[in-house]
Amino acid sequence: MDEAIRFLLTLQNYDMRLCELIQNHSHIPQNIAALEGDIEMSNRKIIQEKNAIQNAKLETQKLEKDFKSSEEMIAAGKYKLAFTKNPKEYEILAKTIADEECKMAQLEELLLRGMLENDSRQLEFSNLQQTVGVEIQRLQNEKERQRQLSAHLEENIAELNHKIAVIRGIIQENHGRWLRHYDETKKAIRKMPCIVFVKNNQYCGGCNLRLSGNIAAPDPDFPFTICESCARLISIDSPAVEVAVEVSGEGDVEIN
Ligand SMILES: [Zn+2]
Repeated sequence: MDEAIRFLLTLQNYDMRLCELIQNHSHIPQNIAALEGDIEMSNRKIIQEKNAIQNAKLETQKLEKDFKSSEEMIAAGKYKLAFTKNPKEYEILAKTIADEECKMAQLEELLLRGMLENDSRQLEFSNLQQTVGVEIQRLQNEKERQRQLSAHLEENIAELNHKIAVIRGIIQENHGRWLRHYDETKKAIRKMPCIVFVKNNQYCGGCNLRLSGNIAAPDPDFPFTICESCARLISIDSPAVEVAVEVSGEGDVEIN
């Protein structure tokens, strides 16, 4: 019977581990989705800056064009001025040329500033590309690690499921009733474990509430009592049984 309890406790141990593995595995898809989101955001950062640089270059080209046409206008104006005899016309034309020269000076300043800005932006972009490249690589490595972890967990889950099937088969052979109780309790309680021990001879090892009445097992074929407050199965035997399970194989206590 002790051996049967050990099997049941081992099953419980496996079930708890399985639950943990399944929970860890369930987080992986959202971890991967978050990493993919970060990778996309990093890529977008590069594309946005690339586009911004392209636009700034187009802006500079436009300034260049304006500067050139202003230059041409001034040259043509000066040529025309040389042939202007009428003082009134001369005055107007000279004024137009002066205005255009003023505009050209402003354009030149803008153009120079734009070119300098473009150069430094291009340099910063190279740095950005490098930094973001490293970050993307890090994210991709992490994504790969998550994928491997997922595969590893799947393997462990399959292995554990197999072990659970085997141990359930063994328990079912002679203690099907225990197994049914165990399954029902597992469904009824919110948090594992569902098999616990008596604490200080009077408290439930699960919910810590005092047990009422006789806690001796009423039935030798069913060495559990059911906690009235948390519904867990309380093993009447000493917790030494549990310790024996934890060091399974090495010096197991042999009572019967
Ligand atoms: Zn309890």
